[in-house]
Amino acid sequence: MRIAVFSTKSFDREFFERSNKNFTDIHLKFFDVPLNTDTAKLTKGYEGICVFVNDQLNAETIALLKENDVKLIALRCAGFNNVDLKAAEEHGLKVVRVPAYSPQAVAEHALALIMTLNRKTHKAYNRVREGNFSLERLIGFDVHNRTVGVIGTGKIGMHFCKIMQGLGCRVIAYDKYPSDTVKGMGIPYVTLDELFAQANIISLHCPLTEETEHLINEVSLSKLKKGTMLINTSRGALIDTTCAIEALKSGQLGYLGIDVYEQEEQLFFRDLSESIIKDDQIMRLISFPNVLITAHQGFLTNEALEQIAIVTLTNIEQFSKGQKLENEVVL
Ligand code: NAD
Repeated sequence: MRIAVFSTKSFDREFFERSNKNFTDIHLKFFDVPLNTDTAKLTKGYEGICVFVNDQLNAETIALLKENDVKLIALRCAGFNNVDLKAAEEHGLKVVRVPAYSPQAVAEHALALIMTLNRKTHKAYNRVREGNFSLERLIGFDVHNRTVGVIGTGKIGMHFCKIMQGLGCRVIAYDKYPSDTVKGMGIPYVTLDELFAQANIISLHCPLTEETEHLINEVSLSKLKKGTMLINTSRGALIDTTCAIEALKSGQLGYLGIDVYEQEEQLFFRDLSESIIKDDQIMRLISFPNVLITAHQGFLTNEALEQIAIVTLTNIEQFSKGQKLENEVVL
């Protein structure tokens, strides 16, 4: 089966080529460009495509895929908010994904954001390299005994809960569908308003849906304890960036750590160091001393990349052999 792989980075090629040695009859063609309406023409002659978080699979792109006789959309990620599932169904395209590859990788990255923001190790590293051994303005806080609010206690959120319990935090949670396992860990589910009012640190681990878009907005931000730390490793549009900037300016938000950003598809996964960045909001965020941004690297561990490649290739193989699609995404 011929597969066109979009938005390819060196690590995608390395892990997919290595894992594909264990599969027969899957032929991968790697394209650096993202998939969108302009690049959809490249799919001619491929039965399947493999895409990542910022490829745009809207109705228009999907109609173009159908014209080219593409039959399978294989997401090499867990989230599928960038796919118009209705359009895929209407055109008879199957959609598969990698539901879990290493929830630990993303949960550990959330912890990295918390500890870096709190203990300012990124600033200390730069200072010491320049021979500046001053401790001025490096004061952090003990995470132990703080209240951590986790929104979304699925695979990643649950692991994040365990990590924070291990640090001696009081963990509270909100999820639309509470989990008995999480309750069994001694973690109470509270309402969103209770979580906003009690947490010192809030970490977002729910998917991006119509319901969760801009979950963090002017109203919810006003309900936080002053100085709360907000962490988002899930999807950028969970946070209304304009409101977050205002809350940072007023001090209502004490720290912001994000691995995802509302307009990230124009920026992330590229080296723009010699370009004029036109996105004023990200530049404003970068200017805050209490904001830490990473460019969607939560999944970037050896273990996760290997798992992503194996599960994606298995999904493709199941389709090509007409087997049951274990990881199909349906409406
Ligand atoms: P999951 O499906 O296992 O868990 C999601 C949880 O969110 C579930 O418990 C679900 O009940 C809950 N939920 C659904 N709707 C909700 C709502 N309206 N309010 C509150 N909770 C709600 O998913 P996961 O594997 O834990 O991944 C979580 C998110 O992390 C994904 O949706 C994806 O966007 C993101 N992610 C980011 C990276 C990264 O590299 N930064 C990597 C993988 C996943």
